[in-house]
Amino acid sequence: MSVNDAIPAPQSADHLVPHIPGVVFQFYRSHCGKMRFNYLEGGGAALKYIDRQQLALDASQLVRQLTNIDYPKIMSAIERSARWMMPLSTRFRLPFPKGKPHWIAVSAKPEPAVGGVCWNGLMMDITDQVAEESRLRKLCDTDPLTGLPNRRKLMAHLTHLSSLSARHGTPLSIMMLDIDHFKQLNDRWGHLEGDNVLKLLATKTQALLRSEDMVARMGGEEFMVVLPLTPLQQCHKLADRLRDSVACYDFGVGVGQVTLSIGVAEYRCGEPLTNLIERADKALYGAKDIGRDCVCLLP
Ligand code: GH3
Ligand code: MG
Ligand code: MG
Repeated sequence: MSVNDAIPAPQSADHLVPHIPGVVFQFYRSHCGKMRFNYLEGGGAALKYIDRQQLALDASQLVRQLTNIDYPKIMSAIERSARWMMPLSTRFRLPFPKGKPHWIAVSAKPEPAVGGVCWNGLMMDITDQVAEESRLRKLCDTDPLTGLPNRRKLMAHLTHLSSLSARHGTPLSIMMLDIDHFKQLNDRWGHLEGDNVLKLLATKTQALLRSEDMVARMGGEEFMVVLPLTPLQQCHKLADRLRDSVACYDFGVGVGQVTLSIGVAEYRCGEPLTNLIERADKALYGAKDIGRDCVCLLP
C-alpha cells in the first residue's frame, strides 16, 4: 500500500461541514429589516435546538430570544456592519432549553445583495473560553487574602463612578481606613493572626455597607470604601459607625485591640481622582495625629 492510499480522498464541503466544531452560515437582512438564514450548517450542540427551516424563512424569532443586553448589541453590530460594509464580529448568549445559555462568537463578512445585505460567516461556541476569561478577570481584580476587590478594580470602579457623578451632579464619597498599630498586633499575636484580623475586618466592613458600595484592599492594612450617591456628612456618620463597631468587636485578640483610623472625603465635580484620594489620605493622617481610633475630614 502506498502512502497516498492511506490519505482520505478529498471530500465535498457539504460532507465536511456537519463535522466541524462550529456553524457556517449565510444571513440575509433586507433593507426593511426582514432577516433570514439562507444557509446554516455545522456541528456542535447549538444547532440541535434550532429550527433551521423556520430560520430559513424568518430569523427574527431567534434574535428576539436574546437577552436585554445582547439584543441591542447584536442589532447595532449588524446595523454598523451593513452601513459601512465592515466585518461583523461580536458575541452573544444563546438561550438553551435546559441549563445555562451558551456564549456564541460570530464573525462574518457583509456583501451587498438584492434588496439588502448578506453576511457569510462562522459561529463558534465559546462558552468555555468566556468562563475562563471571567475566572482570570476575577483573579486579576481580587485580593487573594480577603477576597475583596483589589486596588486595580477599585480604581476602575472609582473612575466610572466619578464620571457618573460629574455628569449627573450626584454626590460620591470615599473613606480611607487604616488599622492602628497593626505592626504591634502582628508582633504580639503572629502574622497568621494578623491575616485573620484582615479577613474578619473585610467581612465586617462589607456587612455594614449597601450592595452598591465597594470596599477594596488597597494594600497592607489599608482599605478604601467607595460610596456612590453619598454626601460627606452621611459618609462621616457611616465611617464612625464602622469605627465604633470595629472597636467593640473581638477579632480573636480581645475587644479594643483592633481599632481603625479613617479619613473621609467627597468628590468635587471634575477634579482629578488623585486630588480626592489625596484629601482622604490627608484626613487619615489627621486621624492618626489626633490619636487614632477616630474619623477625620478636612475642612
Ligand atoms: P499606624 O497606626 O501608624 O498605622 O501603625 P501600623 O503599625 O499599623 O503601620 P505600619 O505601616 O508601621 O505597619 C503596617 C503593618 O502591616 C506592617 C506589615 O507587616 C503589616 N502587614 C501588611 N500586610 C500584611 C498582611 O497581609 N498580613 C499581615 N498579617 N500583616 C500585614
Ligand atoms: Mg498603613
Ligand atoms: Mg496602620
